[in-house]
Amino acid sequence: MKNKINLRLSLLMLFFGLVLIIFQSYNSRDIGVNTGITKAKAVAEVVKSGLTAHMVNGNMDQREIFLSSISKTENIKGLWLIRGENVIKQYGDSSKDDLPRDSIDKNVLKTGELQYVVNDHLSNATLRVTIPYKATDRGSLNCLQCHSVKTGETLGAVSLEFDISDIKETGMMNILITTLMTILATVMIVVMISRMLKPYLETLEVLNSRIDSASNGTFIEIDVNTRLPKEPKELVTKYNRLTRSLMDTFEEIDTKLKTFVGKSSDGRNSNNPIAEAKDIIINLSHIYQFKNLIQLDKDKNEIYTRFGTILKNQFNIKHINILELDESAKVDKVYQHGDLDYCTSKIFESPDNCRVSRNASDVCSTEHQQACQCFASNDYLYYCIDIEIGKSSKIIMNFIFSNNEELSQFKINLPFVKSYIKEMAPEIESKILFQALEDSALKDGLTGLYNRRFLEEHLKILIPQVNREKRNIGMLMLDMDHFKAVNDEYGHDIGDKVLREFARVVSENVRESDIVVRYGGEEFIVLLVDVKNEQDAINVANKIREKVAENEVDVYAGSTMRKTISIGLSMFPDDSNAFPTVMKYADLALYEAKDSGRNQVRRYKENKKDALELF
Ligand code: GH3
Ligand code: MG
Ligand code: MG
Repeated sequence: MKNKINLRLSLLMLFFGLVLIIFQSYNSRDIGVNTGITKAKAVAEVVKSGLTAHMVNGNMDQREIFLSSISKTENIKGLWLIRGENVIKQYGDSSKDDLPRDSIDKNVLKTGELQYVVNDHLSNATLRVTIPYKATDRGSLNCLQCHSVKTGETLGAVSLEFDISDIKETGMMNILITTLMTILATVMIVVMISRMLKPYLETLEVLNSRIDSASNGTFIEIDVNTRLPKEPKELVTKYNRLTRSLMDTFEEIDTKLKTFVGKSSDGRNSNNPIAEAKDIIINLSHIYQFKNLIQLDKDKNEIYTRFGTILKNQFNIKHINILELDESAKVDKVYQHGDLDYCTSKIFESPDNCRVSRNASDVCSTEHQQACQCFASNDYLYYCIDIEIGKSSKIIMNFIFSNNEELSQFKINLPFVKSYIKEMAPEIESKILFQALEDSALKDGLTGLYNRRFLEEHLKILIPQVNREKRNIGMLMLDMDHFKAVNDEYGHDIGDKVLREFARVVSENVRESDIVVRYGGEEFIVLLVDVKNEQDAINVANKIREKVAENEVDVYAGSTMRKTISIGLSMFPDDSNAFPTVMKYADLALYEAKDSGRNQVRRYKENKKDALELF
């Protein structure tokens, strides 16, 4: 920058110098010409006076001597007279020498105006001037006395040739001096201005480089030179103040953001706090959006899918397995992306096979040799995270990578992944709790079967559907025989156990589509949905009855017990179009089964109390 300014300044100075030289040379030439013309006019006057005197005195024969003496005057190289037309007309052209010698002479005679020409040569310069003599009628020079012309008419002219080489030399000398002075002045001014501008330019250069580094995220203050002039010193001080304030602000932003995300950024801009802050804010905004979205998600599966999509698309993770462990260590696979899964089956066997589930701290395959025995592959790398959900449930996440680069990039992104998890965990917990609440309202806590309320709600949907599709429902009412005696003999806990076993055996011996309900106490209802006919329903009922009777329940160490059940059967819509009536008939049939000795299935028969058939 400094050199550029110096160059421009020098060029400007040289331009002015050149203008000055041109002006000077023009001026000196002008002065030379003017001096020559003035001199010529004086000589012309002398010649005119001399000639007039010669004429008046009648000694014109002396004219040549007179003219030659004047010609000898310094610098006069030539002098000749030209006779005008009027004089020739009056006196004739006595001397051939007095005729016009060139076009200038002719022009002057014709126009009556002074004319001059400068002949410039390399070594010398001459001025040729032709001055007209005009007729006057005043004083001693009353031309009209001798010449028959009118006042103002041109009588003739005198041409003079001057050597003006000395004037030219003086001019040249002036130009030379001006040139030298210009160069000297240019150098001096450039040096002076350059020295004056030096601290300003140096400050600008330092500022320029500091601003460059600042835009790349490196803030460096500038040392304040005490010898700097006031203005650049002020500029540097202001810059330093701004830099300090920006550094403090970014440090604060960084610290605050780190508390949100757990780290500063995804590592791409670790040296640039501005870009880093921008990265973090973008990621935070994504996490915030995620948090808002999952609050509105229908259930936990929708949250897992949303989370999986982010891991897949934003963090480019190719294999993800997510498992959920409930308070009774029951394992459920809730999400999978990619086709690799080396752990789930082993975790299903026992959650303790999984290291992250045991230790509850992250497990990374590169941190220990064979970090987890559960992961049965040496071709892939893995990273596992365990997340506590509530008091006793947890989520296990297993991420699988093909190479070290993928794993390293994941580790860089880990704080963000964990931020998502941090937002997701309470939502998953609340969805699980909500689901449990819904289940508890519709399910029986002891057996896990649907309760009476569920049955009432479900029948509202089921009956119209069955009617539409003209299907049957076999209605079984089940009651354990002499159950009270179990409670009495072994206590309620064993009674509960027997009930749970009863529920399990019943559930295991009906179709998925059948509905098993704990109707109350030790009374159960089974709806055989879409059973083909009465006989099929009787067969299923008997199968249940037999399986329950065969089932041995441990009551205390080494001692087992078997219980029987009685079953009443009715058919919808064969027995009645009103389902409550069908239920009542089943109850009646059950009553009959009890009455007839228990451990049997009874089919309800209309209008025939006695016709309740024993099967
Ligand atoms: P039967 O049906 O053969 O006529 O005789 P029973 O002894 O089974 O008679 P009943 O149906 O009247 O007895 C039901 C008993 O079941 C009474 C009640 O204490 C017991 N009971 C009901 N609900 C539960 C429960 O949730 N747990 C336990 N342990 N017992 C229950
Ligand atoms: Mg009973
Ligand atoms: Mg009962």
